Amino acid sequence: MLIDKAAQILRAGGLVALPTETVYGLGADASNELAVRRIFSVKQRPASHPLIVHLAAAEQLDAWARDVSPLARKWAAAFWPGPLTLVLKRTELATDTVTGGYDTVALRVPRHPLALELLRAFKGGIAAPSANRFGRVSPTTASHVHSELGEEVELILDGGPCEVGVESTIVDVSNDMPLLLRPGGITVAQLEQTGGVTVATAEEQEGAHAPGRLASHYAPRAGLKLAGRGQLFAEAEALAKTGAKVAVLTADASVEVPGCTRIAIPSEAAALAKVLYAALRRIDDGGFDVAVIEPPDEHGLGLAVRDRLMKAAAPRA
Ligand code: AMP
Ligand code: MG
Repeated sequence: MLIDKAAQILRAGGLVALPTETVYGLGADASNELAVRRIFSVKQRPASHPLIVHLAAAEQLDAWARDVSPLARKWAAAFWPGPLTLVLKRTELATDTVTGGYDTVALRVPRHPLALELLRAFKGGIAAPSANRFGRVSPTTASHVHSELGEEVELILDGGPCEVGVESTIVDVSNDMPLLLRPGGITVAQLEQTGGVTVATAEEQEGAHAPGRLASHYAPRAGLKLAGRGQLFAEAEALAKTGAKVAVLTADASVEVPGCTRIAIPSEAAALAKVLYAALRRIDDGGFDVAVIEPPDEHGLGLAVRDRLMKAAAPRA
């Protein structure tokens, strides 16, 4: 069976691309130093960006983390399996390479059935960042993974298009005060409601230790421009006048922008999250120089979509 084969590859120190509900991951045995190093080299990812370790069930939490607070347990119980990553004090199981040498480890139980099947068959933790080159658009289908890393992974498990479409929410619960390190598939409102606490963002917290947060990330090769409220069509038209091949990402089919091509996207944030990365890939595949989009407001999954769009549009190093 394919899952047994995938588990064998992981045991032998190989790489398996796997579907999760957020994006496709590039998986390796989280306890195998050499295997984890291969993830970094295939992705060309700097060592300072620690990896998320995926587990089959919340019962494995205490094998990987210590000093787990009641709040962390409450969130794990409420949102696992699901798109929530908890940063906790680590045990010896995670390698230094996985944790970037930090005293913490990032843990998550994904809810895609194939990911869970593989985790159960493998039994250990699977370190799995998104299956793309560092800084680029995350893959949300098996064919995205294939075109990005096809030659460099032993096996790609095809689980269809990802259900959530953007990465997990990351909360640091290794200290008394929970800190949002990355908005994602679980909303701040869900966390606050379930936890009975206020969740601050790492930006609000001066000196917060939050590795791996860069201005530019998730970037298509083409340029991306974020339009101000109500400015989408004016901005697109201005860009087209410079002679650029412009794509306008919008749910509004009523307006024709001279010299621009419309790429249809949903207006509702969760639906947009699901197709966001595929839309960014279409900009590159269509040979556009630049795409213009008006980011959604911060409500619900809108916060995560805005975060990804701002990073995708940021000046590149
Ligand atoms: P991803 O890029 O989706 O694999 O998510 C990895 C991100 O999780 C990193 O860039 C960090 O922001 C965060 N992360 C992973 N491990 C840790 C850790 N030990 N401590 C704090 N943040 C972490
Ligand atoms: Mg990534």
